[in-house]
Amino acid sequence: MPQILDGKLVRDAILAEMKPRVERLAAASRPPGLAVVLAGHDPGSEIYVRNKVKACAELGIYSEKLTPPETITTGELLELIAQLNARPEIDGILVQMPLPKQVDSRRVLLAIAPDKDVDGFHPFNVGNLVANSPGPRPCTPAGIMEMLRRYEIGVAGKRATIVGRSDIVGKPMALLLLHRHATVTICHSKTPDLAGECRRADILVAAMGRAAFVTRDFIRDGAVVIDVGINRVSDREQAARIVRGDVARLAEFDRKKSLVVGDVDALDVGGASAYTPVPGGVGPLTIAMLMVNTIQSAEQRIMGRTE
Ligand code: NDP
Repeated sequence: MPQILDGKLVRDAILAEMKPRVERLAAASRPPGLAVVLAGHDPGSEIYVRNKVKACAELGIYSEKLTPPETITTGELLELIAQLNARPEIDGILVQMPLPKQVDSRRVLLAIAPDKDVDGFHPFNVGNLVANSPGPRPCTPAGIMEMLRRYEIGVAGKRATIVGRSDIVGKPMALLLLHRHATVTICHSKTPDLAGECRRADILVAAMGRAAFVTRDFIRDGAVVIDVGINRVSDREQAARIVRGDVARLAEFDRKKSLVVGDVDALDVGGASAYTPVPGGVGPLTIAMLMVNTIQSAEQRIMGRTE
């Protein structure tokens, strides 16, 4: 049986280490401050933002939720960002995506001061990532690196394959693994023989957004499988196929009318040595790393240091 890599345990360990750092900042000057901008009423985004605000409260980080209306223009949002950039007690600005369709997301992203960009999405920080220079790293891939480190899963010299090339997961994941000396392959929807590419991997990261797509055929014996996917399945037949008649999971489906599953078929991980479950694997780490980025930004601002 593969080992289960428990994201909640890792998250709790990270947050426990962060608490004294927040207390130190609060005692020296003020707590770190995070502004979260949520425009409109996307239900998924509302849950994510609620969880981010809750995590801040638990750690003693000051947070502020700004909820401009769905009808906000690019210009108005740019003005809001400019005000947040200018406020000294705000160390991090997070604009929850997706933005309403009339808003130019790219311009908004560019407007965030790079030293308050706790998502690590600003081109300045993307440059830092490419160059392996200090700076905030995108939270999900950074969380995966923490998970590998804390479970003492070696990366140097390993073959790592990432399925997905998005700016928020796939590409930064590839760079972080590369900087830790893995031999990295990035796959996407035009990759021929995807299963074959994946089978070469010692570390396989699935970040494609396709429910239970990765099966035994994709997994080399002994591989570590990281499942980033968060897919909401609302078709009962599909859910039943994925959970293979697991009564508890099907009852969960019936209660919620949907089920969240990963990109990996968790019941078909074959000879993997370890894998991250969904939920409870990578998901909890993303918010933990957002807290880390916010605290680091505050430390730099207040104490002039980077850790
Ligand atoms: P995107 O939709 O931006 O990117 C998906 C990538 O997967 C693309 O590069 C796409 O290829 C590739 N892909 C899609 N289908 C296939 C296929 N059949 N074969 C090969 N490649 C394929 O998604 P994100 O990167 O934003 O997110 C990926 C998943 O991770 C989603 O389920 C998302 O919900 C989840 N996620 C989870 C987080 C967490 O905290 N756990 C955080 C962020 C995301 P191409 O480029 O060719 O289109």
